[in-house]
Amino acid sequence: MVLNSGSSSVKYQLLEMTDHSRLASGLVERIGEEGGVADHAAALRQVSAELRGQGLGLDSPELAAVGHRVVHGGTRFTAPTLITDDVLAGIEQLVPLAPLHNPANITGIKVARELRPDLPQVAVFDTAFHATIPESAHRYAIDTAIADRFAVRRYGFHGTSHAYVSRAAAKLLGKEPAEVNQIVLHLGNGASAAAVRGGVCVDTSMGLTPLEGLVMGTRSGDLDPAVVFHLQRVGGMSTDEIDTLLNKKSGLLGLAGANDMREIGRRMADGDERAQLAFDVYVHRLRRYIGAFTAVLGRVDAIVFTAGVGENSAAVRAAALAGLEGFGVVLDPVRNAVRASAGRLISAENSRVAVAVVPTDEELEIARDTYALAQGRADARGPGAAG
Ligand code: ADP
Repeated sequence: MVLNSGSSSVKYQLLEMTDHSRLASGLVERIGEEGGVADHAAALRQVSAELRGQGLGLDSPELAAVGHRVVHGGTRFTAPTLITDDVLAGIEQLVPLAPLHNPANITGIKVARELRPDLPQVAVFDTAFHATIPESAHRYAIDTAIADRFAVRRYGFHGTSHAYVSRAAAKLLGKEPAEVNQIVLHLGNGASAAAVRGGVCVDTSMGLTPLEGLVMGTRSGDLDPAVVFHLQRVGGMSTDEIDTLLNKKSGLLGLAGANDMREIGRRMADGDERAQLAFDVYVHRLRRYIGAFTAVLGRVDAIVFTAGVGENSAAVRAAALAGLEGFGVVLDPVRNAVRASAGRLISAENSRVAVAVVPTDEELEIARDTYALAQGRADARGPGAAG
């Protein structure tokens, strides 16, 4: 079972690990809000009740393990980790780095452990795939002592997605991940780019928090940090107000009043200039990162689009790669326009760089990591132990 516990929601999926089929999935929303369940414990009980109808409740003896998505692993957790009291304490220590996300993840873990103390439970971190980024790329150019004291550095997020998609893209190309240099563009409501050299992440657009980098649904992405001082000194805004502005009211929403790329597209078709500008700012930022990561990698074999916008918006993909023939990137307009749910190549035959659309599947990645660790634990019990 894969659990993604947010502050007011719990998403779950139940996967059969012999063939990776999805047995069940769902979402409990409005936790602690009017019309919703009281807390995360009640939410998990509801999940269990929903699953029990199919004979698959949390109390099912067939459940092998629970995998939890955890947003921030800091520098300590660089791989999926079997949860113990010590690990849980470690995740709690990271709350200052992810004050909105880690507490909800922790609550989900605690409740699931109370319900099934007998089961292996695994934390899979959004930051882990980026642990290989060299210091030259993850260190901010500020006073080293202050940076180290407050754990200020680039961590990167969406790592589970970048890991899954970069492996799937290599497979689509008929190659081993070690043979492929790629730029992965995860464009969902949150958005991030990763430079992946031979299966190893060497740079990413998100930083200390998910605010840095690309223009997103409601986040600004990159800006001059002095914007914050300016808004404080001249605008009279508080730290919390600016935090909310940059994380929740910026990006496409701030530029055009809508955070959904479909809505932006509809308004552009109606001649809405704000929507057009939002699209242009979004695409310009994307192109900057494609250029930057091309230089970081030196040789680029593939550019890979994933998540809601990346998988579905032919317009964003076309605009992001327009005029890059000089870099060996040639999109096939017909392939790009095809709507499909499977991974596919959308580059022209004469494109030196392969361009691909690869649907992400963070739940499957978490399930695989979880199952691998749970199996390891079962094996560790010695020969003859049940799997
Ligand atoms: P999350 O980051 O919440 O997981 P998703 O990866 O599901 O987000 O992406 C959600 C976003 O994908 C939506 O906000 C919307 O902008 C975009 N999207 C979904 N479908 C389409 C589509 N057909 N065309 C353009 N954008 C789309």
